Amino acid sequence: MSTYEIGAARAYAGGASVRVVRAGWFRPDAGGFFGVVPRPLWSRLVETDERGRLACRLNLLLVEADGKRVLVETGTGVRMDAKDRDIKGVEGGDPVEALRAVGEDPASIDFVVVSHLHYDHAGGMLDSDGNPAFPNARYVVQRDEAEAAHGDELRLQGIMEVEQLDAVRAAGQLAEVNGEVELVGGVRVMRTGGHTRGSQAVLIGAEQPRGRAGDPAGRAIFWGDLIPTRWQVPVRWTSAYDDYPIDAIEVRNVLVARAAAEGWDCYFTHDPGDLPIRIVATERGGFRAAG
Ligand SMILES: [Zn+2]
Repeated sequence: MSTYEIGAARAYAGGASVRVVRAGWFRPDAGGFFGVVPRPLWSRLVETDERGRLACRLNLLLVEADGKRVLVETGTGVRMDAKDRDIKGVEGGDPVEALRAVGEDPASIDFVVVSHLHYDHAGGMLDSDGNPAFPNARYVVQRDEAEAAHGDELRLQGIMEVEQLDAVRAAGQLAEVNGEVELVGGVRVMRTGGHTRGSQAVLIGAEQPRGRAGDPAGRAIFWGDLIPTRWQVPVRWTSAYDDYPIDAIEVRNVLVARAAAEGWDCYFTHDPGDLPIRIVATERGGFRAAG
C-alpha cells in the first residue's frame, strides 16, 4: 500500500464535495490514546504493536465548494527530527508531498483549516524551508487556540506548534476566527474546545439545501481530535491528550446526538479504516459507529 492515497469524491448539500487524502501513518501510545478507558475494554477493538502503539492514519480532507479549495489539516509535516519520528512511528506526514502524489497542486489551496495546534495536525503548516507550505492559502485557526499556544500553562509548553503559527502570521496568511464561521458556501468551522482550548471541527453541507433538483441533501462533519477515530464514539471515551475532558464529553454528547439524528457522514482524522461512516444510537441510549 502506498503512503499517500486519495479517496473518491462525495457530494453534500449545496454542492460541496469531499475527498479523503491519506497523508501517512503515525503510532500513538495506546494507553494515552484511550485515557481512562480500561485496557480490557479497548483491547477488544484494536491491536497494538510491540511498543504498545496503535497504527493510525494522518487523514486530511480536500473540500471543494463555491469554486474554492479547502484543505483540512496539515499532518505532521517534515520538521520533526528522526528520533521523534521513530518514537511516534511517523511514516509520510508531508501534506505537500501527499497532494502532489495524488495529482493535486498545493498552490491551488485557498484555505487550510488547522483543527488545533498539536504536531500531528499543525506540523505541516510550513515546508522544509520554513515558508508556508500552501503559498496562496489563508490558514484558519481559532483565536482561543492561538492564545493558548502563546499562554504560560506548563502543560502546553513545547506541545503546540507556536513557531509554525507565528511564521504563518508573519507571512500575512493567518486567519484567526472565533466560534462558528462560514469559510465558503456550505463549509463552516466550529469551535468545540474539549481536546484543546480552541479545537475546531468542520461542518460540510449547506444547512438549507439550495433546492436545485438533484442536489445532494446530506451533511458531513470532520471531528478533529474531538473524536479522532471510530473507536472513540462512546462519548465518555476521552483520551489522555484531551486538555478539557469534561468539556469534551459535553460537546461530544451534543454533536454525536445530532450526527446520529441527522445522518451526518463522519470523517475522523486518525481512523485507519474506510471513511466516511455514520453514527447510530444504541438501544441503551448511547451511540456507536455504524461501520
Ligand atoms: Zn491533538
